[in-house]
Order: sequence, then structure tokens, then C-alpha cells
Amino acid sequence: MRAMVFDQPEQPLQLRDLPKPKPGRGQLLMRVSTCAVCRTDLHVVDGELPQPKLPLILGHQIVGRVEQIGDDANVHFKIDDRVGIPWLGWTDGDCRYCRSGRENLCDDARFTGYTIDGGYAEFTVANARYCFHLPERYDDVEVAPLLCAGLIGYRSYRKTGDARRLGIYGFGNAAHLIAQIALYENRELFVFTRPGDKATQQAAKELGAVWVGGSDEMPPEKLDAAIIFASVGPLVPAALHALAKGGVVVCGGIHMTDIPSFPYVDLWEERVITSVANLTRRDGDEFFEIAPRVPVRTQTERFPLEQANIALDRFRAGELKGTAVLVVNQ
Ligand SMILES: [Zn+2]
Ligand SMILES: [Zn+2]
Repeated sequence: MRAMVFDQPEQPLQLRDLPKPKPGRGQLLMRVSTCAVCRTDLHVVDGELPQPKLPLILGHQIVGRVEQIGDDANVHFKIDDRVGIPWLGWTDGDCRYCRSGRENLCDDARFTGYTIDGGYAEFTVANARYCFHLPERYDDVEVAPLLCAGLIGYRSYRKTGDARRLGIYGFGNAAHLIAQIALYENRELFVFTRPGDKATQQAAKELGAVWVGGSDEMPPEKLDAAIIFASVGPLVPAALHALAKGGVVVCGGIHMTDIPSFPYVDLWEERVITSVANLTRRDGDEFFEIAPRVPVRTQTERFPLEQANIALDRFRAGELKGTAVLVVNQ
């Protein structure tokens, strides 16, 4: 099978011909149709995340069809079913986090396209218990960005509780998806972009934000919650400073630059800073139930598998108009 392989940080992925994987116990062999590119893929390629599997096939927003079913893996899926494979690839089901409904924090979790091989390839194997059926209203390209930007964005959004005034810092893929759910649930949306990024501010305004501005600006009203999707540490004190009493700042990314110090008075009055790590299968079930009702729409740019490096470079340079989706077999 053709695969784009990551050998070491700061080198382009290599196109290789590899043997087709075989499904082990509990696994599905999937013929990959599409795989969306996530910012986490960039963090891996740029050496910002510790100890990836090497060599590695990246990609954790995978849409494919079941080609073969391993022993004990036929619980929910049959041959030719369309299946989504997310970031959370496996957990032990047994540690204190798994046993308390927090499998996203599992001590032994394995992550697709990071510690196990992912979807920048014609085939992949995945543990059936962590795969999802996908809503029918979406085609294979449209649905791919929902598998991480959507799911982890949704987990970040749920951490804001019933916040009425919601700030979003960094209006990329996850923000664009989650903003649609927030508006559907009648939240007031305040969107912060890079200072001077008028095009993104305009896009947020058109989507329905009540206020847009640069991340160096204060909103006209105090916020009940803010989600930070940009991997920029100084946004944490900035967002905290914009909060009303009891408000929460949710950091939605896997990697962030260092957070500068800030006066205690900005945290005082029960303000909270938290982060979101990974996802649970329950997040997926909830998100794929609500997404088609909104309906959450995705913006995508297609690339053939062989152009994964171009997709990553254009993502890093901020040149994409939507989520890059590798089209592998269609
Ligand atoms: Zn566990
Ligand atoms: Zn991701």
C-alpha cells in the first residue's frame, strides 16, 4: 500500500510502498477514503510532541470502509461499513481514569497517528471499540474534519458549561465548527483573531459572532467563558483578564507556548483555567448526534495523499481556506 511516512522531525514525509497491515484481535482493517490534517500533525512533524512512534504514519481524522474484521471485532461493524477513526485509538479500560468515565486521561492510552499508525495511507487498522459510525448527511471529505477538530472542539465547548457570553481565541478549524454549535445553542459569540486579521474577523462576523476583534483587544462585555484554540501561551492571561467572575478559560490544544505570569486578581473570584486532553467515546456519540442537527458545516481543501507535505506546509503557513483533507481512495 502507498503511505506517507514520518521518519524524524523537520523532515518531509516520505512516500513509501508498505505491506498492507493485518487486523489483530479486536481490530478492523480499513480501506482509507479520506484523512483530514490536524494541527497536532504539524506539532508532531515539527518535533513539538514527545516520543511519537517512529517511523510513523500520521493522521487521526480518518474516514474509511471496513475491509476485513479481526477476531472479536465485529461488535458494531460489518464489511463495507463507513467508519470514522479518531485520535483516541485504545485505552486499557482498567486504570482509575478509565473506571471513572475519564478514558481520555487513561495512563496507557494509545493515540492514532502519534503512538500508533494513522491514516496517511491506503489502509490502516483500528481497534473497533474506538471507531464511530458517521452521520449520513456528510460525504467522506466533509465529515473528516469533524473527527478531531469537531470532537475535541466539542469537548472544549462542553467545558464552558452554560456560559452565555463565549469568547473564542484563534478562529481555525475547531473554532469554526464549535462556533456553529454555540450559535445553535443561542450563545453570544466573541471571536478574537491575530491582531489585524480582518479576513478571519469578517468570516466570524458572517457566521454570527456578536463581536470580533484582535486578541490584544478587550471585549465590550466580560465573558462567562473563553476557549483558546491558538497554541499561544500569552493568550491565557489575556483571556483570563476578559472574564467575568466565576468564568472559565479552556485551553483546547495539545501544545502551547509558555504562559507568562499574571496578577492574582485576574484569577480571583473563582475564575478557572483548565485544559482539554483527548476525547472520550461519549464525546463522539454526543457530537455526532448534534452535528447533523445544527447542521455543522465544514470547509475543506482537498489534496491527494502524495501531496501531504504540501498540505502540511500550507497549513503551517496559514494559507489554507479550510481544513486540508487528504483524499486517498474514492
Ligand atoms: Zn485506562
Ligand atoms: Zn487532532
